[in-house]
Amino acid sequence: MSWEQISTETRPCPCGNGTVTITTEMDDWNRYRESKAIDCPSCRATQHALDSAREQHIARKTASVAQAHALAASRYLDQWLALFEGKSKKSCRDTLFKTDKYPAMGTFYKHVEQSGSLHKYLEAEFHRDFEAALRLLGVNDAEIAALFEQSPSPSLKKD
Ligand SMILES: [Zn+2]
Repeated sequence: MSWEQISTETRPCPCGNGTVTITTEMDDWNRYRESKAIDCPSCRATQHALDSAREQHIARKTASVAQAHALAASRYLDQWLALFEGKSKKSCRDTLFKTDKYPAMGTFYKHVEQSGSLHKYLEAEFHRDFEAALRLLGVNDAEIAALFEQSPSPSLKKD
């Protein structure tokens, strides 16, 4: 796998005292990637601060979502499983997917079979998209919602 440079473009940096060079490369599978070289100490520092703010934001967001997930599982997984208790597979599918065309009944059976049991399948469904599971349960958990609202995206604007 190798990347081949296909273009470079140099333009003035945001503050105007230096330049930014964007290099575009393409690999054997026609995938593109861009890299940016900032030739200006001040704009490079700004970019660096923004990059680390973004990284921190993603890390915080990931932690918050993991926390929300754990909370949701401890509070609502039993309620979720109880929702399907005693229902036929067809009725479980209809409850899960409503009028969606996918998965078709046959596909659904196959997924359940691959999971090992309907119970395991339903548990996996909860973990796959616990937000959707909570919506389906009609749960409105302020603590979980708050975890999602934490840590707004960093913005480019300076105060
Ligand atoms: Zn600059």
